[in-house]
Amino acid sequence: MSWSIKIARIFGIPIYLHWTFLILMVWLAVSQLMQGATTAEAIQGLVFPLAIFSCVVLHELGHAVAAQRFGVPTRDITLLPIGGVARLERMPEKPSEELVVALAGPLVNVVIALLLYAAGTRVAFRSEDPEMLMHGGMLSRLLLVNVFLVLFNLIPAFPMDGGRVLRSLLAMTMDYGKATRIAAGVGQFLAIVFAYIGLQHNPFLILIALFVWIGAQSEATQVSERLELEGTPVGDAMLTDFAMLRPSDTLGHAVERLLAGSQQDFPVYDGQYFLGVLARADLLRGLAQSGRDATIEGFVQPGLEPITLKDPLVPALNRLRETGVPCVPVLDQGRVAGLLSLENIAELLMVKAALGSRDAVVTSGARA
Ligand SMILES: [Zn+2]
Repeated sequence: MSWSIKIARIFGIPIYLHWTFLILMVWLAVSQLMQGATTAEAIQGLVFPLAIFSCVVLHELGHAVAAQRFGVPTRDITLLPIGGVARLERMPEKPSEELVVALAGPLVNVVIALLLYAAGTRVAFRSEDPEMLMHGGMLSRLLLVNVFLVLFNLIPAFPMDGGRVLRSLLAMTMDYGKATRIAAGVGQFLAIVFAYIGLQHNPFLILIALFVWIGAQSEATQVSERLELEGTPVGDAMLTDFAMLRPSDTLGHAVERLLAGSQQDFPVYDGQYFLGVLARADLLRGLAQSGRDATIEGFVQPGLEPITLKDPLVPALNRLRETGVPCVPVLDQGRVAGLLSLENIAELLMVKAALGSRDAVVTSGARA
């Protein structure tokens, strides 16, 4: 969050501006000044981009408010130069609910476009001369932007809303994993089409193709991973052979532990409480700053609340990813039983994948 500044809170949802967005605005103003515009004109030149981004914020709020209706809170909305991102706690898995949440964003732009149309923007819009559309007044350009936002977002490919619309429609007739794979496949097919057209006509399309390709892949991986790990307790994925450090240990001692095994991040325990984690990067920073004899205490980063053996794995994994904390201690009736780390979960997934492909071979063999 340090790369963004909070500008507002709407319906209880914090709205952030990413610093790259601010740079874009400054660059727009400066480039106008350099072309000989007055300060007033340069500021006026920002009105249209800011109006576009307001429409984007309203679009994201559409998703957020729809999600709220299904009991899914939105952590925040961030504005980037390429658009907005609403971080929902999760996507509702019920297909009909995902459909509503996905459609709510573009629907906001439909409403804005209709309102603009009703407010006398139709003159430019009805013009027979296509040039008029581009050079029309600000409101008619804004109307066009909203139409574009609707069409662009409804392209049936992740990470666009259309990808979610497609997946939820498919998921009404088949299981969620299969629906995701098909939707991701459609997205990747479109990415190839965009890249092909882009090579001939418009390089910008190649960028979109890349964006869509990566979006499809990450959605498919995330969903298959979640389905794979669903129902697995933390106890099945934790590390049981690991070292802990005490706050009074020296950095030299920590280095010995680091070199002695494959563990890179160490939970720090004072015999009663977990103080946090000493990560490898912090250990190295400590060595460079204070040498081997300093205690580790000053270099421990705050950790997560310990979890228990029977906690479900998926939310714990999400917590680790979101906070960037490398590992979290696992307790069994108050006693330290293990350590859950992202690395270990990745290993568990690899093992499951290997076993899964073996199962598939066995079943297809049995069928043949
Ligand atoms: Zn959207």
